[in-house]
Amino acid sequence: MHITDIIRGNSPTFSFEFFPPKTPKAAETVYQTIRDLELYMPHFVSVTYGAGGSTRDLTHDLVERIQHTTKLEPIPHLTCVCHKEDEIEEILLRYAKSAIGNILALGGDRPAGIAYDKSRDSFQHAIDLVKFIRRFNESGAHPDRRGFGIGVAGFAEGHPATPNRVVEMDYFKTKVDAGADYIVTQLFFDNRDFLDFRERCALNEIHIPIIAGIMPITSISGLKRIAELAGGALFPAKLLRALQHCQNDPEMVRRVGIQYALEQCRDLLDNNVAGIHFYTLNRSDATRVIVDRLGIPRRQNAQTASV
Ligand SMILES: Cc1cc2nc3c(=O)[nH]c(=O)nc-3n(C[C@H](O)[C@H](O)[C@H](O)COP(=O)(O)OP(=O)(O)OC[C@H]3O[C@@H](n4cnc5c(N)ncnc54)[C@H](O)[C@@H]3O)c2cc1C
Repeated sequence: MHITDIIRGNSPTFSFEFFPPKTPKAAETVYQTIRDLELYMPHFVSVTYGAGGSTRDLTHDLVERIQHTTKLEPIPHLTCVCHKEDEIEEILLRYAKSAIGNILALGGDRPAGIAYDKSRDSFQHAIDLVKFIRRFNESGAHPDRRGFGIGVAGFAEGHPATPNRVVEMDYFKTKVDAGADYIVTQLFFDNRDFLDFRERCALNEIHIPIIAGIMPITSISGLKRIAELAGGALFPAKLLRALQHCQNDPEMVRRVGIQYALEQCRDLLDNNVAGIHFYTLNRSDATRVIVDRLGIPRRQNAQTASV
């Protein structure tokens, strides 16, 4: 279903993100997580895209498996990194054939551990991918006459590669105007950053829905991993103080992290957020606690997954 139809009448949406499993054991974990979370009937789920090779096929496989064996609405991520135009076209054709409704169009993380020359990519920035998908949409190859709905990434705290925040907003505005239908933000821990970003978007005449990315911290090692992966992420003193008090008690750390994310979600909902997107890290436990406490009902009788 096209994202504008998903969001219309359903705001605030809630959604979950998964990454493709690399081993049979990891596959079992993610399938169980999907089964657990399908009970909440999220408005969509998204599947991340790796930097190269076989992991990319795993994204396609997981997206199609979700599409064909569950009632969930999968949104694949697609990136510019290490791709030529004809490869992207082939992927879009495959997704169109499977009636995938939407794509999250991204610049993409640099591949780790291999030599990488960005200038050889057909698309230098996410905006080029957005434009390409728009052109693809006009070809009529998608079963929805509007083609794919298109999402883009937003960075409430700013993207580290463009420290000039005025220039960054100009790039961002151009990307959105190229044809994005919605924005999903990078994780953040201070809602003021999100609310300020949303206000700055409005000042720049960006009026598409902005969905907030939330990741509950469940361990000290998890926090360190987030700091590494989401480069530049800010950890407010309030969060660090709460974690410091219980850093030697893993269960307490988990509870504090979940409570913090829950308070973030409540505050965002009070501030009319368009949607909340949970970075699940392929585990359902922390996300389930939060959505339960937010009062999002489980549909025990829903015809659910057989992934
Ligand atoms: C919700 C979300 C999901 C993500 N999922 C994935 C995933 O599945 N796989 C993955 O590899 N990565 C993923 N990422 C990470 C993301 O790909 C990287 O953070 C990437 O560096 C930025 O992506 P972007 O789409 O914003 O890129 P872009 O819009 O291309 O921006 C990247 C940088 O380039 C700058 N820029 C834009 N246009 C220009 C221009 N014309 N000239 C010069 N500079 C310019 C921007 O200001 C920014 O600093 C995700 C991020 C988010 C927020």
